[in-house]
Amino acid sequence: MTFNDLNIAPAILKALAKENYAKPTPIQEQSIPAVLAGRDLLGCAQTGTGKTAAFAVPTIQLLSEKPNKPGTVRRIRSLILTPTRELALQIADNIKAYSQFTEIRCSAIVGGVSQKVQERALQQGADIIIATPGRLIDLINQKRIDLQHVEILVLDEADRMLDMGFIHDVKRIITKMPTKKQTLFFSATMPPEISKLVKTLLVDPVKVEI
Ligand code: AMP
Repeated sequence: MTFNDLNIAPAILKALAKENYAKPTPIQEQSIPAVLAGRDLLGCAQTGTGKTAAFAVPTIQLLSEKPNKPGTVRRIRSLILTPTRELALQIADNIKAYSQFTEIRCSAIVGGVSQKVQERALQQGADIIIATPGRLIDLINQKRIDLQHVEILVLDEADRMLDMGFIHDVKRIITKMPTKKQTLFFSATMPPEISKLVKTLLVDPVKVEI
């Protein structure tokens, strides 16, 4: 199987070729068609499997199919929550690479950098935000971020967010988004607290295990 067989838009295929991705990894092969079809996804996969492109490529594509209105400030239409700052910045780099020939813009919201700089980036508008829960909660508390237009939510390494004590923040962030949205949920393990969250959040998910 090649990326061409997965109904990926030419602009994204061009970027994947530029990144020297010759063919999809197993998790990409299984996830991309399901996400493009609008399904919720439950993925049990570790980092290193190509998980990022598995959720990022179809997210970029779905958002490009319905662009923001020209001349208006972009609304946040996808939120990616991830446990660490390093992971968030890495995902943002990947998304910038995959979306370089599209109109999609992304921005990372993480601790340890000036909040002013991130607020400025938000004011300029982003379609996709990649965030760690702590800094995002700060912005929510200060009413400086609007998640009311999120269509695609990605929870990456959910079990690690639980281990790091972020589960309460994650649940609160979820209440700031519309109930009707597509959710892509990744966790290497499924402790009871995570299974409970899966049950409340996902509707008839496609399960992908690597
Ligand atoms: P991830 O599991 O998303 O952190 O990806 C692990 C590494 O594999 C990253 O360096 C990616 O750039 C790379 N990668 C992801 N998908 C592919 C692919 N289909 N072909 C080649 N490299 C890939």
